[in-house]
Formats: sequence, C-alpha cells, structure tokens
Amino acid sequence: MTSDQPHGFSTRALHAGQEADPATGAVVTPIYQVSTYKQDGVGALRTGLGTGYEYSRSGNPTRTSLETQLASLEQGAAGFAFASGLAAEDAILRALLQPGDHVVIPNDAYGGTYRLVKRVAEPWGVEHTPADLASVDAVRAALRPNTRMVWVETPTNPLLTVADIAALAELAHSVGALLVVDNTFATPYLQTPLTLGADLVVHSTTKYAGGHSDVVGGAVVVRDVEDGRGGSVVERIGFHQNSMGAVPGPFDSWLVQRGLKTLAVRMERHCDNAERVVEFLQSHPRVTKILYPGLPEHRNHDVAARQMKRFGGMISFRTASVDDALAVCGATELFTLGESLGGVESLVEHPGKMTHASVAGSLLEVPDDLVRLSVGIEDADDLVADLAQALG
Ligand SMILES: *Cc1c(COP(=O)(O)O)cnc(C)c1O
Repeated sequence: MTSDQPHGFSTRALHAGQEADPATGAVVTPIYQVSTYKQDGVGALRTGLGTGYEYSRSGNPTRTSLETQLASLEQGAAGFAFASGLAAEDAILRALLQPGDHVVIPNDAYGGTYRLVKRVAEPWGVEHTPADLASVDAVRAALRPNTRMVWVETPTNPLLTVADIAALAELAHSVGALLVVDNTFATPYLQTPLTLGADLVVHSTTKYAGGHSDVVGGAVVVRDVEDGRGGSVVERIGFHQNSMGAVPGPFDSWLVQRGLKTLAVRMERHCDNAERVVEFLQSHPRVTKILYPGLPEHRNHDVAARQMKRFGGMISFRTASVDDALAVCGATELFTLGESLGGVESLVEHPGKMTHASVAGSLLEVPDDLVRLSVGIEDADDLVADLAQALG
C-alpha cells in the first residue's frame, strides 16, 4: 500500500507495511526467523521489494513490517520497535540527552520510567524534575535553562492523570525542548500525540498494542524534527536502536503486529466495558473515589474529551483503607490478580504493593488504598457481577 494516510485507522492497521510477501504471496507477513542474509557480492545487498537486509539487529523484514504499521497508526515519519517499553524509553533518553541535560517527568509517572530516570539516567548525569503535568503552569515552573525534554504520560499509570499534549508541546518548543508522550494507555486509536505537536511517542507494546498478554515489547514513533543539536531525531533513534541493539525478535514483532490489527475493535470494547464498570463503581459505598478521564468530575476531563476519541479501558479507584483495597484485589474471580494491563482479559492489582512498589517512599508514591483495573473484553455483565461480589 503506497498512499496509506488517506485510509482510516483500521485499514492502516491491517495494510500499512503488510504487502503480500514478495517471495511467496503469503498474505500475512511471515516470521522471518533469521539473523543474516545472502549478499549478491561483497557489500552488495539485494535490491527491490522486501530486500536490503544484511543482519537482523540492523533490520529484519518482520520487524520492518511492524515498524511501518506503527508509524502509520501514530502518523509519524518513522517507527522503531524495541524489546520492551523500557528499552524504548532508554533509547530515547540516551539518543537525545547528554550529561548536564534536564528532563521534566510526571510526578505520577509509571514506576519503571521513574526508576530508569532516577537510577540509570541520573547517575549518568541527566537531571530531572517531577512535575504535575495536569497543570501547564507547574510544568513551566519546572523548566530550567538546560531542559531538553518534557516527558508526558497521559493518561498516567496508575492515577489516570491527563495532560494537555498540545499546550505542553507548545511550552516545550518555546524553550527548545522536545516533547515525548508515553501513549501506552490511550494507544493511537484513542489519541495521536504527534498530530497534537509531540515530537516522539513511546509505547509499551506489551499492553494494548500486543493486547493478548503474550509478548513484551516497546516502540518509538517520531516526527521528522531536529534533535536540537543539529541532527535529526529519526536518525538519532535509528542509530541508537542499532548501536545498543535492544531489538525485538521476529516472533515478538509478529505478535505485536497481529495485535495491532484488532486494536480498533478491542479498544471500542475496552471502552464500552470500562464505562459500564465505572457506572457500577459510582453506585458502590465502599468506593470512595473513581479515577477515570471519562467522568465529568475528573480534573482534566475537558482536555481528555478534546484530545481523546474515548476514555480507555483503565480505571483506578480508592477505597476506605489499604485493607479494603487488598481485600478487593484478593476477592475477584474474573479479574485476575496480576501486573501489566491492556490484554483481552481483565486484571486487577494493588499498585502500591505491585507495579509501583519501586516508587514507594519517593515523591511518586501512590495511595495505598488504590485499586487499579484493566478492564478486558469479556461480557460487561459478568465483569460487573464479579466486582459486585468482590466489593460485597
Ligand atoms: C508497562 C509500561 C511501561 C514499560 O513497558 P515494558 O514493556 O514493561 O518495559 C512504560 N510505560 C507505561 C505507561 C507502562 O504501562
């Protein structure tokens, strides 16, 4: 498919980068489980469709197919697949920052992102400031003369805080900084940060993109912009992907690509079910507060309504105490107790003791009475009934 932009999201999910295999005509991109490629002469790579490969760290046809699909869905200039979401984040930090640079991060960032910034980037010499990204003024106040990057997560994991991507992009650009958006929760189906002014999008494709809890992966999609040091962001990320080598194997690339094909239908169902669950939780006396961007009382509901198509499948809620939260997590039957999110099956977890244990004691500590739900695509009535019995 050549001119894919005019096509709709679902069409691109199924066709971008997915021409029939040039060798056999297979309509599904094959899993090219191979490390090296025959050359037609010394340094003479094969030319033509589906060729130009020399070594699978640098490029592999299955991965290229996924990267093309990702770039198309996020409407970026180039996509890069990684072995995990954190490997993708690490590539961004190392490709675009240098010791002495400063990055603004969310004060409720995903715990692994905070750990990477705090325990890997900081010892390397990169400074950071956690800020309340829901407030443009708070981010402005966190900027320093050496700020090179503003890192946004929206909605955030696990507090579902929403940041105004367009406003923060404008602010970051006004001081010569790049805006990165972790789009793991919303996915390109619900929100496309690059079209709102962001420079890079990062994903844990382990979550909604893969969608079936069967693969760990990451991705970076970029606009064709300068890196602020006279180079190109596309080239910098590409260079680091190959130089550091945290690439996904062909089978994992293929699983993520297969997941993305059904992203649109899955997200609609995740959103439908989440709305039903929110409605139920609103009526329950043991739930003291619901964190969901679709609720009119959510702090940045208007921003979410403007920049997102719908409000997603993630819900967090607070209970009266840590014991209450732990009891709910232990009592569900359909909602499986487990880390991760975004799969077809519903999951429940206690962020304070599970996914976000690494931020305990830090500025980013999450409330201990918090329960996080990843609402799957089961029948909504069954999910509501399960929560009703678990909450008692
Ligand atoms: C899971 C997650 C990550 C990290 O991705 P991995 O694939 O686990 O390395 C980053 N950001 C968010 C928002 C996540 O939920």
